[in-house]
Formats: sequence, C-alpha cells, structure tokens
Amino acid sequence: MAILIEHVDVLDPAAPRSTAHDQSILIEGNTITRIAPAAELALPSLQIGAQPLQVINGRGLLAIPGLISAHTHSPENFMRGATERMPLEPWLVWLYGTCGEYSARDHYLCAAMSAIEMLLSGVTGTLDHLWHGGPWQREYLDAAMQAYSDSGIRAAVAPMYDDHDYVLDVADQLGFDLRGSVYGQSHGGYRPDREDYRRGLLRDTLAMLDAWMCDWHRRDDGRLQAFLGPAAGQLVTTECLQWSLALARKHGAGVHMHCVETRVQDYCIRRVRGKTAIHWLYDEGLLSPEVTLPHSVWVRSPADLDRLAECGAIPVHNPAANLKLGSGLMPMREMLDRGITVALGVDGACSSDNQNMFDAMKLAALIHNLNHHDPQTWISAREAFEACTLGGAAALLLRERLGRVRVGYLADIVLLDTRSAVLAPMNDAYRMLVHCETGSSVKHVIVNGRLVVRDRKLLTLDTDALIAEFFERAARLPFRQPLDEKTRKDIADAQAFWQAVMQRVESGE
Ligand SMILES: [Zn+2]
Repeated sequence: MAILIEHVDVLDPAAPRSTAHDQSILIEGNTITRIAPAAELALPSLQIGAQPLQVINGRGLLAIPGLISAHTHSPENFMRGATERMPLEPWLVWLYGTCGEYSARDHYLCAAMSAIEMLLSGVTGTLDHLWHGGPWQREYLDAAMQAYSDSGIRAAVAPMYDDHDYVLDVADQLGFDLRGSVYGQSHGGYRPDREDYRRGLLRDTLAMLDAWMCDWHRRDDGRLQAFLGPAAGQLVTTECLQWSLALARKHGAGVHMHCVETRVQDYCIRRVRGKTAIHWLYDEGLLSPEVTLPHSVWVRSPADLDRLAECGAIPVHNPAANLKLGSGLMPMREMLDRGITVALGVDGACSSDNQNMFDAMKLAALIHNLNHHDPQTWISAREAFEACTLGGAAALLLRERLGRVRVGYLADIVLLDTRSAVLAPMNDAYRMLVHCETGSSVKHVIVNGRLVVRDRKLLTLDTDALIAEFFERAARLPFRQPLDEKTRKDIADAQAFWQAVMQRVESGE
C-alpha cells in the first residue's frame, strides 16, 4: 500500500514560520519515500509500481511527526481523576492498596483506552511501563500487546518487576513500619529472610519475559517492541539490573526504569549505597543508550549530569506527574546543554492524568522558566517539540528512523487542521504546536504507513463498545469503594515517613 498526501504544509525548521507550503508526501510501505513541491509530485506522472494508492487531500493541513509518549502506565487508566493532594510515597500505598488484581481483559481494556486517547490526540508512539498488582502471568502481557496490535499505534511495552525494596529498609531504620502495609504486602513483604525466594521469582520472571520477547519484539512490521521494565532504582538490586540489561541486549531491546523521581528515593539510595543513583548505575556499567530513565528529577550534581551525558542513557521528563505528586522539576536545561537526549512522557493516568502530549510539551516548555533567571536559557517551543519527537524516537531505539517528516523516515505522521480556532492564524509552527494546540486540530493520523485515524475517527477499534465495557469493569474495582481502616492507616504512615525524610533532606542530610 502507498499513500500520497497532496498539497500539504510540512513542519520544517528551515522554512519561514517553520512551515514548507504546498508539498506532497509519498509513503510506500512503512516509509516516507518522497517529499517535493506538490507540482513536482503529482498523480498522473507518479511511479509507484502495482501497489494500491490511497490519496489524501492535504489542503489546509499541516503534516508533523507523530508525538511520542516515552513513559506511561496503561493500567492506571481506570484511576484517572481518582486522587489529588498526595505525594508519591503515600500515593503508591493508595495505588497498590486499592487497585485489586486485574484480569487479562482489564489489561487489554486499559491499553486500548490509552491507544484511543493517544491516537485521537496525535500521539503515534508510546512506551508503556506496564504494572500488575500481583505476580505476572504471560496472558496479561499478551493482552496489553494485543490491544496495541489491534489499535495500530506504535508501542513498546516494558513490564515492571523488582527484587528488593530499599525504601522499606530505610523506613525500618527510621522506625516506620511500612513493611506490613498494603503496599509492602503487595510486594511480598520484602522480608530479608525471603531473599532467596525473591531471587528465584526474579529468575522465573525473566525467563517468562525472554519467551514473551521472542514472540512479540518487533512484531507487526516492527511497530511493536518488547522491552524490560525493572521498576525503579530503589526497588532493584545491581544483579537484577545486570540480568535485565543482558536480556535486553540479547533481543536488541530497551531497558526502562524509574530513576530518582522523588527526594525520598534519592535519600534512600544515597543512604543504602553511599552514592547517588546515577553514580551507582555509572560505576556498575548500567547506563547506556538503550536505557531510558523516567523522571530523573533528582539528578542534580554536575558530576552526575556529566555521567549521563557520557553514557547516553535517556532521561524521560514527565512534567505533569512531577507537579501533581510534588516531586520536583527535572534539570532539563542542564541536560540539554550537555547534549543529553531528553524524551517526554505523560506518566500513568493516576498521576498525570490525561495522556495528552500537547499538554506535556506545553508544561515542559513553560515550567522551567521559574528556575532560571536568564530568559535565553528557557526551554524553547522547538526544544520541547523535539524532546517529544526526536527524544521519543531515541527512547524507542529508533534514532534517525523516527521523529521527523523526512525521506527515509518511518511514516508516523499527524495531519492537523490549520483552519481550527487554536491554530489560526498559524504564526510560527513550533510555537503554535507547543503553546496553542491541544490535540483538537488532529484530523488524520498515519502510523507505520497505515491510516489509523481519518476525519477524527479511529478506524481500528470499536471505541464505543470498548468504552462501555471499560465503564462496567471500573465500577467493580476495589478503588471505587470507600477506603478500609487499614488502608487509611497505611497511607497515613507513609505520609508520616515522607514528612520525616523531607525534614532530613531539607536539613541537608
Ligand atoms: Zn511512572
């Protein structure tokens, strides 16, 4: 199948107001094969062999690379709009204490809901750090993958696992009993006398993931990828990460791991390891370009920033979640100045809460203004847009293949209606996209050379039926019921622990 988009404007940083006018784009298979002025790339003279051709009238439309969300958790879709006014540590207790155990169908529905929201708002690629409130079974992973396969979105799925909770160790040392909480219990309690058991569990999990990766990695013409998702720096041993990286390299896949999202995590890692998270990962040889590190908020020292730059690991900025949970601001300017590739994400729908990358770009472009007194160092609209597109492409291990509307690149293209109220009168395209657009101008969406949204309608999934089923299932989940006494106490205990650690770090510890 080939697609010809005729008479379309194309985002182009070299053109006046960043827009090249009246172009045509030819897509063959999953790749952009020609871009030229419309008069030079017209139908009667077009040579495309015998393949069928779909023609899209691009008049009044702007072609941009599809947006990429490089960090989210689809299982949180049931919990959008469910919490507020909680820092991450007590929020995690609420999440694990009330989510219940999902079925494979629940995972399918959550991933499908992500795909629906994202595709209709111009997001063509996602990196789903998939969690499950209990032990993994292969059918849960397959269900999420199947939803992404059915939807037509580009997706990398990184199932979360862990093997030692160092935050619980530090809580013990400071006199807080979090081990018996609903959060601690959902992680097996992390009793030190069960280390051998946990190691066996990790081996079994990785063996299952190995087989899963054989079946799914690069399926659907390369559109789907199977990554590894060790949960977070404070939740894994060095050995767990070494095994993960080795398995990822065996498959040519990525490793995706939360990294110092909060000051509590930074404090716990420094207390246990005697060095910062980045310093530890660097010393162990665990930072490399296939490693993506969502949040990286508390990477502050010049030495740690230099370590990141040297090794090429990719921090993923999630401004909405970091604001909602009060975690802090990633040092994005300091990272960009060192040549570090920064990607952008929305994070899960319980902390973000929507999955809209236009929101994420706008926040990334604006919130850092508060921390810098020289306006020339503020994040530009183009930098925010490129973090979302080129940074996202690097996070999906598709650097130089994805993230631009350019010949030779994969055809993930969003066509926006430039006659919409938010894009009129189309001043500089990058600023219009980052500061003005909300996703409401998205008209057509192409992923991997296939039209998946036409005239604002998703062509791949029965959205009405899925949303009806999603409502039904959500009503039965435990988090919709009033909190029981134990969960309320566990959340209060986690809040007290959070406050105690914050007092310590604020006094310089
Ligand atoms: Zn996350």
